[in-house]
Amino acid sequence: MKLTLLGTGSPIPSPDRAGSANLIEAGPHRLLVDCGRGVVMRLAAAGALPGMLSHVFLTHLHSDHVTDFNDLITTRWAMSPVDNPLTVTGPPGTQRFTDRTLAMLEDDIGYRIAHHDDLNWQPGVNVDEVHDGVAWERDGVRVVAAPTDHRPVDPTVGYRFEHEGSSIVLAGDTIPCEGLDRLLANADVYVQTVIRPDLVAMVPSARFQDIHDYHSSCEQAGATASKAGVGTLVLTHQVPTPMPGTEQEWIDQVRAGGFTGEVVFAHDLTVVEV
Ligand SMILES: [Zn+2]
Ligand SMILES: [Zn+2]
Repeated sequence: MKLTLLGTGSPIPSPDRAGSANLIEAGPHRLLVDCGRGVVMRLAAAGALPGMLSHVFLTHLHSDHVTDFNDLITTRWAMSPVDNPLTVTGPPGTQRFTDRTLAMLEDDIGYRIAHHDDLNWQPGVNVDEVHDGVAWERDGVRVVAAPTDHRPVDPTVGYRFEHEGSSIVLAGDTIPCEGLDRLLANADVYVQTVIRPDLVAMVPSARFQDIHDYHSSCEQAGATASKAGVGTLVLTHQVPTPMPGTEQEWIDQVRAGGFTGEVVFAHDLTVVEV
């Protein structure tokens, strides 16, 4: 499998980091996990277009993970020569979110159908809501979901992708929890969104301090990875936005959690293969 970290940013705007999105290529399938800011641009940079995706998975409905869901729907629909519905799996609430997104797009959908004689169908989006268990299975690619803990954002899920004996876990935003431990057991790759509590604590904003209790620190990610026996830990969605040259500080904090395997400090379009 090939994992491309399409967007490694957080809600904090950055010129170099798009919002949360990840592409997994497994067998004949291209699978997208989350659709944050700039996802369609980063997909193009990775050699993919929305119409080439087999399926989309959402970890949760926080804006930084879904804000460009509408662009994905519109671009797939408007570029396709045939009706090519998008299929999406996400936590409970995903159907309602999709319905509202399509409602937001109604005017644009009307303009394009009125303008193009050969475009006479609405964008289709078929949603499957999951919380725990097998989420998707096709051509030897298996995806398992489990609940994570990002409260008060609830429900949230993480996903384990399996193909030909290899496994990649996309944890999403979560603190260490039982569901995450289950997904991670002996995984080859563990992708975790992380914060640096020492740097967050220095930001003089009460709202910023609220993020401490619902994200994994680097040290917690290291401890989780160590306990599960994973091979490679990938740090993404780093908060605060990392200063160039500070990567080793983040990795040192992972080591403080007891993890001795490989650590990848992700930037946009970083690739990990298993
Ligand atoms: Zn979140
Ligand atoms: Zn997030």
